[in-house]
Amino acid sequence: MDIHEYQAKELLAKFGVPIARGGLAYSPEQATYRASELGGTVVVKAQIHSGARGKAGGVKVCKTEKEIEDAAEFMLGRKLVTHQTGSAGKLVSRLYIEEATNIDREIYLGFVMDRASERIVVVASAAGGMDIEEISASQPDTIIRVAVDPAVGMQQFQARELAFGLGVDPEIVNKLVPAIMGCYRAFRDLDAMMVEINPLVITKEKQVVALDAKMSFDDNALFRRPHIAELRDKSQEDPRETYASDRGLSYVGLDGDIGCIVNGAGLAMATLDMIKLAGGEPANFLDIGGGASPERVTKSFKAVLRDKNVKAILVNVFAGINRCDWVAKGVVDAVKELDIKLPIVVRLAGTNVEEGRKIIDNSGLTVISAETLADAAKQAVEAAKKA
Ligand code: GDP
Ligand code: MN
Repeated sequence: MDIHEYQAKELLAKFGVPIARGGLAYSPEQATYRASELGGTVVVKAQIHSGARGKAGGVKVCKTEKEIEDAAEFMLGRKLVTHQTGSAGKLVSRLYIEEATNIDREIYLGFVMDRASERIVVVASAAGGMDIEEISASQPDTIIRVAVDPAVGMQQFQARELAFGLGVDPEIVNKLVPAIMGCYRAFRDLDAMMVEINPLVITKEKQVVALDAKMSFDDNALFRRPHIAELRDKSQEDPRETYASDRGLSYVGLDGDIGCIVNGAGLAMATLDMIKLAGGEPANFLDIGGGASPERVTKSFKAVLRDKNVKAILVNVFAGINRCDWVAKGVVDAVKELDIKLPIVVRLAGTNVEEGRKIIDNSGLTVISAETLADAAKQAVEAAKKA
């Protein structure tokens, strides 16, 4: 789960990460009021779940009331398109008004979970302010990486090494180290998957300030972080994914036209590959889980059908924990209940496969039965092309 910049800043501030003063605004009028509270030059920042807002007109430094009003007028209600949002963009419904900072240097600081080494890895670069992808491509030598040993956690000396590696003055090192350690503690204590401060700035007054902040959290840990879970903003999510995750389904929206209903994440990935191999494009990843009941199968169909691009549905179930006849019953019930007109290809394997196929074949529905995954993918691609 992602959160907004102002929410991330609020959380990080509690861990001692220095931020600028600021406040939220939902209208141009509130924006100017917030600015008057802060006094002086302010920055108007569109709150959307995306980076690269600056280049898209979502970050404006404003000196006068008129400028603030114009910036707020421009941003609010707009679907801001950045190179991270896709062409649909993301709706701006709140602004963060922050006191302006006199930037001397911009640093990149990121914390990610590195799955390969099973460690939190800190990435920093003296060339902050732009995308890390851009930095690593154009200035790979500026990137510093530090892995945190989970047994002892991040150590002060590691933060100091990072700070010196970035080439900052010794007096600033002492301000940078608590900021780095604060981000690390927030990452660890809040079950984050990513913390990114880009830029972390050193001001002309020789202060350290997190000027931007991005955090995302492990969905599987949200149950034990209710104060994080409530920061969710569904308006920023893919509506297909919101619908599915609200119903306990593991779903990822894709751009193709073949809806997929599969049990097991590995099998779901293999199904996407097979569809591609057969010349088609999957509309989604969907893992319905091990012991999927007919109710769950129906829910899955509903989730897949919310995507209007879907032209055919491929159900691929390997029944180990489950039973094929149970899944087949679920498919037949769902097709009847939801009155599905789209072509459906079902491939069943495993426990009670014969009984399962019989239920499909005797249902009187035009559901296509396939024996192998390759065949199922081929049939689904053909059906989608015909539709
Ligand atoms: P992003 O484009 O979504 O990553 O948004 P950021 O919050 O990182 O802002 C983009 C850029 O705007 C930063 O890299 C800064 O260069 C600039 N910026 C943001 N806040 C200020 C500020 O207070 N003063 C000045 N001078 N520039 C700012
Ligand atoms: Mn940024």
